Amino acid sequence: MKIALLVTLLAVLAWQTIAAPIQARAPRVRYDNQVLARVTIPSTLANSDAISSSLVVKFRHSFGLDVWGVVNLADETRAIDVRLPTPDDLDAVKEAVAAGAPGGTVTIVNNNIQAGIDAEAHENAQALQVAGLTKRQTGVYDPATWFTAYHRFADILGFFNSMATQYPSLVSVNASIGKSFQGRDLFQVRIGTRTNPAVKQVYIQGLIHAREWVAGSTVQYIAYKLVSAYSNPSDPDNAWAVRTLNSTELFVVPVVNPDGYEYSWTTDRLWRKNRRRAVTSSSAVGVDLNRNYPKGWGADPDGASTTPSAEDYQGPSPLSEPESRVITSNFVNTLKSAILSIDYHSYSQLLLRPPGYNYAIPSAQAAKLKAAGDAGAAAIAVKSGRTYTSQTALQLYPATGTAVDYAWDESVNTQVTKDRTNGRVYSYTIELRPSSSDTATGFILPPSQIVATGEENWAGFKAILDYVRSNII
Ligand SMILES: [Zn+2]
Repeated sequence: MKIALLVTLLAVLAWQTIAAPIQARAPRVRYDNQVLARVTIPSTLANSDAISSSLVVKFRHSFGLDVWGVVNLADETRAIDVRLPTPDDLDAVKEAVAAGAPGGTVTIVNNNIQAGIDAEAHENAQALQVAGLTKRQTGVYDPATWFTAYHRFADILGFFNSMATQYPSLVSVNASIGKSFQGRDLFQVRIGTRTNPAVKQVYIQGLIHAREWVAGSTVQYIAYKLVSAYSNPSDPDNAWAVRTLNSTELFVVPVVNPDGYEYSWTTDRLWRKNRRRAVTSSSAVGVDLNRNYPKGWGADPDGASTTPSAEDYQGPSPLSEPESRVITSNFVNTLKSAILSIDYHSYSQLLLRPPGYNYAIPSAQAAKLKAAGDAGAAAIAVKSGRTYTSQTALQLYPATGTAVDYAWDESVNTQVTKDRTNGRVYSYTIELRPSSSDTATGFILPPSQIVATGEENWAGFKAILDYVRSNII
């Protein structure tokens, strides 16, 4: 008996020893002493835009580096933020700048990325504690505290569910428009009064890139502002919200990439892609969902990477990823009367319109796309004094298979056109805070800036939509 028990115990222990490493959560990825470098391209160079764009492509696709963003400095000089894991990477970048951008500079603007990640985690945990949200809970709807912190995927769903409970005639949540690779439900929120059969649709989405947390909070903020302004007669935006919801309804997918987003909380704060290992010949995990849309997929070798480990890996084929299939099916099937689509990202304060790579847009349509974008940027500047630069996405660097080109393009595909009574979809990528004038924390925007970012983008959203409603393309 005793021996049998001992054998059993030993067997259990042995099994645990073997099983534990498999079951344990992966250790957190750390970025100790990794630096963020800012590469400036002198605006005096005749073709500074093209030089900047080609350096981004070189850093990403030749050096395999993680380019964080392209920011505009106060004097309109363009600058590339790039994370450098090793001193060798810094040397390589310096050499490339010396060769390709005479007069360009390379400055370390953040000498320990991990310190910023730790500070954000601390600040966010404190904010959650103050808000009484330390326990994971759903059904929380208190805007006064909600927007002091970033939140997990399940809690974001809970936030919208409680909004729907509070405003049942205005807000509804479709709990699943399809599943992520790991089986999470992508949910969609609809805000509308359901009275006008000729209603047009407005679509916004966030967190297609996991680490861009402020894109999530901003999408939540815009939805919350529309609901509260509509419901409160004394709200300064009440008349606007009532007028808007009389003729339009808002569809929101708050978290396009829930697997990546959760992973950015549990394991790697700087994770960008989804969590599917897309090709068996590589151990690399993740496809850049914003390079996996069918419009222009693979059309420009500089517009996305074909290397599975790259941050902008386009995937093995267009719509190879469950999340991009869910989003595009939803767009085609549910958003047949869309007039505006905005994909929120961070960072660098840009208001980007199509094209994202080299294709033609009729000049009259291009002028309207620009005018609506400019209106949004102007409204943001009035609200907060922040500069969001309005330009084409291609002016930044080429990007293929993206949401912004898809939404613009899909509206002329026959499948959708036959049902459409309106014209095309105005389509934007908005890159949120920070800018070059902020402390160089990049994606790690302190939660204390959630409300200010939301406020200025609520103003921008209203201005863009006002232009779009009166200038159907
Ligand atoms: Zn992004």
